[in-house]
This record gives sequence, structure tokens and C-alpha cells, in this order.
Amino acid sequence: MSEAKTVLILPGDGIGPEIVSEAEKVLRLANDKFQLGLELEHALIGGAAIDAHGVPYPDETHAKAEQADAILLGAVGGPKWDELDTAIRPEKGLLAIRSRLELFGNLRPAILYPQLADASSLKPEIVAGLDILIVRELTGGIYFGQPRGVHNNEQGEREGFNTYRYAESEILRIGRLAFESAMKRNKRVCSVDKANVLEVTVLWREVMEELAKEYPEVELSHMYVDNAAMQLVREPKQFDVIVTGNMFGDILSDEAAMLTGSIGMLPSASLDKNSKGLYEPCHGSAPDIAGQGIANPLATILSVAMLLRYSLGAGEAAAAIEQAVSQVLDQNLRTADIFSEGMQRVSTADMGKAVVAAL
Ligand code: NAD
Repeated sequence: MSEAKTVLILPGDGIGPEIVSEAEKVLRLANDKFQLGLELEHALIGGAAIDAHGVPYPDETHAKAEQADAILLGAVGGPKWDELDTAIRPEKGLLAIRSRLELFGNLRPAILYPQLADASSLKPEIVAGLDILIVRELTGGIYFGQPRGVHNNEQGEREGFNTYRYAESEILRIGRLAFESAMKRNKRVCSVDKANVLEVTVLWREVMEELAKEYPEVELSHMYVDNAAMQLVREPKQFDVIVTGNMFGDILSDEAAMLTGSIGMLPSASLDKNSKGLYEPCHGSAPDIAGQGIANPLATILSVAMLLRYSLGAGEAAAAIEQAVSQVLDQNLRTADIFSEGMQRVSTADMGKAVVAAL
């Protein structure tokens, strides 16, 4: 790598610092082993930032985030800050960094390592070896559309309303991310919408069809969201890449995460138009187990692999980390959340140490 690249590390709250500390060891080792020339920086976000600066996303953190090539985040939030006004809650820090860096493209792989097939609530044969990628639009749609609010209507009754809107350019950029991702996988994209009822998604479907012409090797299909929710449970392995809007993606990605039965295993990426990204585990700050040294650091370690692959072009290092994770599972090492009979129960730190050793 010619010029030094910077990775900003935001441990956050709860189990965040515990899991990020293990992931950072893996990142430092990959940096040395593959001579990536990365520089690591640290900053505060969430409750930790509120305690130090009174706000969940301080300007100082934003300045570092803008400069960085990629960002690794643990998780934010916890009971200590639950009584605060929603405008300055830790979770606002997360929304702020996503929107201020325009991280519109959320990638959430749902991968079930064959070693953990028993962790799923579905039959092992339905989910073993599952490997799907959900591409969710993250900065538009009904969560952001204006006007919105609650008012008294003409009958004097309270009425709540939100606006579902997508501009063509917003659909195009998320669609492109999905098609590009599919090109690196099994070349199938399923676009999920509700085009039988919602005009926004009629446009969504049209734009996806137009975009598909640029990717003749990729097979595009469409599915209504209600059917997609059903198919994900019925036969999840039929999917390769699923692309969808903000709200449908919110729901389907959680459903897909639970297919794997182990929230402590799932990484995620949120990308801007230049593939700069924020990488974090799918789970939250787990205050119920914070400080006990039992959290599973693997989702965060796998987030490091995604960071290297998608933002730093270091695919070889990413694959080596994923291989190391698979190896520790083969050694029957399990944190409490993925523990089953006959396995060896290990702490957060021991799991991190094992991945470092395997790498
Ligand atoms: P959570 O994901 O933190 O926890 C849900 C359950 O999963 C808990 O029982 C927890 O112990 C367990 N769990 C989560 N991650 C684990 C891991 N790595 N290893 C082992 N077990 C794990 O969700 P929650 O309880 O709804 O939320 C707790 C806090 O996290 C709240 O303040 C919430 O706002 C915040 N949150 C933050 C993010 C984020 O930072 N991206 C996402 C979701 C929730």
C-alpha cells in the first residue's frame, strides 16, 4: 500500500470496549502480517462520549471519522443513559455518524458456520452453510421522509403520518452496490418491494430492471416483502443477495440474523459512495453481560474482515481472518452464547487469543 491508511476505532459502551479490544488485536496482527501499513486511532461515541463531552457524537470524533478510511465500532447504549432526552441518547450518536458520513449502503451477511448449525431454531439441513447478503438502504425511505409527525386531523382525532419516498438516484446507488456485491458472489440479486401496493416501490422495481441491463451476468428477480419474510424461513438458501429499502431491510435483516441463531457471530458494514465504511457487529451493547468477560467477540472480529475487504481492498487478509474464525470453531471453542454440550466454554479474551493464534 503506497500511502498510510487510517482506521478509526470507536469502542462505545457496554460490551463494546471488551469485544473491540480483541478485534483490535486481530487487526494489528493482520496489519503486520500482510504489511497493510494501517494507522489506528481511537475516539469516543455513545454513552462514553456523553459522559466525557455531553454529546453522543462529539465534533472531535466526527473530525477523526471524516479523515479515516474506515471505522470500527463496538456498540452504544445502556441503562445508565436511558433516562436522557431522546435527542442526546447514545443511539443518536450512531444515527449521526451514519447520516453525517452519508453511509447509505448497509451490508449484512447472514452466514451460518456449519459448526454452529445446531444454534439455529430451524432444522440444521435448512440452514447449515447458509450464506446470504442483505443490502439495505440506510439513509432514506420512510424513516427519513418528510412530512412526518402526529397532529389533530379535521375530525379532531390524533393522526400519525410518515412519508415513504425514494429518489431515483437513491435507488440507483443502493442497486449498484447490490449488483457489484453479487458479482463477487453467486451473481443473483433478489429485489424486495411491495410494488403491488406502494408506488415508491413500483419505481424501485423499474430502476432495478434498468440497472440490471448493465450487469448481464447477474440474474435479477423480484419478490414482495411479505413473501420474502416467509421464504427466508421456508428456504433461506435460495437467496444470494437481497436488496431492499430501509424499513423492509431493517425487518428482514433481523429475521435473517436469527436464522443463524447466534447474534454474536454477525458482522455488518455501512458504506458511502466511495466505499469508506463503518463496520460493527449486528448486536447491541448487551448491558446484561457487560464487564463479565463472556461476550462473543467474533462478530466484531468478522467486522474487521469486512473492513479490510470492502474499504481497504485487503481481501487476502480478510479471508485469513475468516479462516481463523472457522478454525477456532473447529477447535470446539465457544463463548457462552454459542455454547453447546461437549464444547469448551471460553471467555471473550480467550476467544480473541485463539483467533490471534490461528491467524
Ligand atoms: P443486544 O444486542 O445488546 O442484546 C440482546 C441479547 O443478546 C442480550 O441477551 C445480550 O446479552 C445478547 N448478546 C448481544 N451481543 C452479544 C455478544 N457479542 N455475545 C454474547 N451475547 C450477546 O440488544 P438489546 O438488549 O436490545 O440492547 C441493549 C442496548 O444496546 C440498548 O441500549 C440498545 O439501544 C443498544 N443497541 C445498540 C446497537 C448498536 O450499537 N448498533 C444495536 C442494537 C441495540
